[in-house]
Amino acid sequence: MDFALTDEQSTIFEMAYAFGQERIAPFAREWEAAGDIPKSLWPELAELGFGGLYVREENDGTGLSRLDATLVFEALSAACPSVAAMLSIHNMCAAMIDKFGSDALREKYLPSAISMERVFAYCLTEPASGSDAAALKTRAVETADGFSLTGTKAFISGGGYADAYIVMARSDGDGPKGISAMIVEDGTEGLSFGALEEKMGWRSQPTRQVQLDNCNIPAENLLGERGKGFTYAMAGLDGGRLNISACSLGAAQTALTSTLQYMGERKAFGKPIDQFQALQFRLADMEIEMQAARIFLRQAAWKLDQGAPDATKFCAMAKRFVTEVGSKTANQCLQLHGGYGYLSDYGIEKIVRDLRVHEILEGTNEIMRMIVARALLTERNS
Ligand SMILES: Cc1cc2nc3c(=O)[nH]c(=O)nc-3n(C[C@H](O)[C@H](O)[C@H](O)COP(=O)(O)OP(=O)(O)OC[C@H]3O[C@@H](n4cnc5c(N)ncnc54)[C@H](O)[C@@H]3O)c2cc1C
Repeated sequence: MDFALTDEQSTIFEMAYAFGQERIAPFAREWEAAGDIPKSLWPELAELGFGGLYVREENDGTGLSRLDATLVFEALSAACPSVAAMLSIHNMCAAMIDKFGSDALREKYLPSAISMERVFAYCLTEPASGSDAAALKTRAVETADGFSLTGTKAFISGGGYADAYIVMARSDGDGPKGISAMIVEDGTEGLSFGALEEKMGWRSQPTRQVQLDNCNIPAENLLGERGKGFTYAMAGLDGGRLNISACSLGAAQTALTSTLQYMGERKAFGKPIDQFQALQFRLADMEIEMQAARIFLRQAAWKLDQGAPDATKFCAMAKRFVTEVGSKTANQCLQLHGGYGYLSDYGIEKIVRDLRVHEILEGTNEIMRMIVARALLTERNS
């Protein structure tokens, strides 16, 4: 057993970290205030191979393992988890096209996804169905040329900003087997967007409802097989959960590193606050939990790469554990900054706000517990 990163993995991490520090961190607050990430950033990330991180190499992707991809997201999130998470969603879509799309669909969309000339968004959630995603109601009615989509998708990251959307819609009967996945391009007649959602964190990326009103799409835009859309949508989630955990880890590490520095500089009662043992113990606890989270995340990613039978359980456990450690660490770091932690200038309050949603999306942490408990009961009974 070897816990060290390979030279290649260290290089991937360092490259992503350097890019984040140079091209994202200095602008993260500006983008947050504007509620917008400049579109010009994406092709720059694509040049590093980050537009098709786990698209197969024979299809011009980067072909990274899921473990390697977590390194990219951890490193970029050290600069801004909101930007990194948006890249994760795009990559989930690119991987779905690579893995499940027909040759024709791949040819049509993969090159622009990999170069990030087209940014993709993922539309599963609806106003009345989030955790119970298979209850979705958006309809896909077959037409002479393809499908006509009608319905509303809620909370869509990149809604009204993305260039194309992978939409999960009901083409057939009730339940997960009646759902198909389809690509809807921006500008399609009948596609419109709700108002920009005002939200606690992830403010640089626009979140809107995506509304489809008799939106006609050609038959060739059906992703994979009809009725398999829910399976495809779920297939991306194990990896998505790893990425979101990596985003928590990278940002919380930034908070911890800057807190360690701050505590050496800030004085109270005549000495630096890092000399108070109660606070040293807090630092120690944060370090212990962060290291445990990192190892646990990488083990889960390794399981997914190996195709281990318990990979889904491990991804769920890692998502629950790492995102909660990330949030707890960031919140403690805010506390250790005293009043200054509450001010935007110190960068900690943004991390606290950004990380909170990681406990909610890609399956809430209650749903993660449900997956783990179900696996335990199945293991017991088998
Ligand atoms: C900023 C942001 C960005 C998002 N981006 C996207 C996106 O790009 N694409 C997309 O499709 N979706 C996106 N989502 C949606 C997100 O995935 C959902 O919000 C999430 O899955 C939870 O669904 P819900 O909000 O409907 O909560 P609900 O499902 O209504 O859950 C409410 C509460 O009940 C709990 N709960 C539900 N069922 C159970 C159960 N069986 N047992 C125990 N507890 C349960 C939940 O954990 C939660 O605490 C985004 C959400 C946010 C906030």
